[in-house]
This record gives sequence, C-alpha cells and structure tokens, in this order.
Amino acid sequence: METEELFIKTKKCTNPKCGLVKPVSEFYKNIYNSSGFSSQCKICRSLKKKYRYTLLTNDQRKVEAKQRKIWNKNNSEKRRELSRTYGKKTVLLITNSYIRMMLRRQKFSTEFLITHPEIVEHERMRLKFKRLIKNKKDESTS
Ligand SMILES: [Zn+2]
Repeated sequence: METEELFIKTKKCTNPKCGLVKPVSEFYKNIYNSSGFSSQCKICRSLKKKYRYTLLTNDQRKVEAKQRKIWNKNNSEKRRELSRTYGKKTVLLITNSYIRMMLRRQKFSTEFLITHPEIVEHERMRLKFKRLIKNKKDESTS
C-alpha cells in the first residue's frame, strides 16, 4: 500500500506535438477512458479547445451549430432556468419574432402584423413594462 502511494503515476500525452510523459495530475480525469484520465495533458486540452474552432471548416461549423440547436432543444428546461436567472439583464431585449409570436397567440395574423407595425411596437412597450414590473416585484420579495 505504502509503495503504491509513493509511486507517482505518469502518463504519456497522446498529442504528437507534445508527447511528454507527465504525472497524472497534469491530466484531466475522464471516467470514460480506461486509464481514468484524459488522453491528452491539461495544457494540450486547453489549447485544443481554443484553436479547434479556428481549424474547423465552414461545413463543420454548420454541423456544430446544428448540434448546439438540438442540444438546446433537449435542454429547454435548463435554458428556461437560465433565462429566469438572466432575465433581468435582458429586460430591454425583446425581439420582433418574440413579439409576433405573442401577438399570434392573441389571434393576430402575421400579415396583419406586417401591415400594422404600430401594433408590434405597442406590444413591445407593453411587454417591457410587464417585465420591469415583474423585476421590481422580484426585487421586493427577495
Ligand atoms: Zn500534452
């Protein structure tokens, strides 16, 4: 037991540009790897993350964006929670598409909204006030 504790476990980084043998503390833990550690060292991992995006082709970026969209869809509950947390900051950011969606719920047609932009503006102001009042209420209760 004691010898095992004294023995410092090392691992070789699989990045061909690095390939250094480092103590396992220099590797992120990864339960999905048989070794229990990431195949590349912490430095390589962080560099890879940073430069990966610049190395992507446009097609790959599109695929990533699509995957993100799917992820967001699957995690809509989490996102709702996030928007609740950050809702105060976005109080003045009400998009046209959101306003139109809200108005469509009130049985306004898209055509009508396009020909009557003042309705959209009015709804924007209404939503703004609604959010401001809600935030004020949240502040006073917390
Ligand atoms: Zn490395």
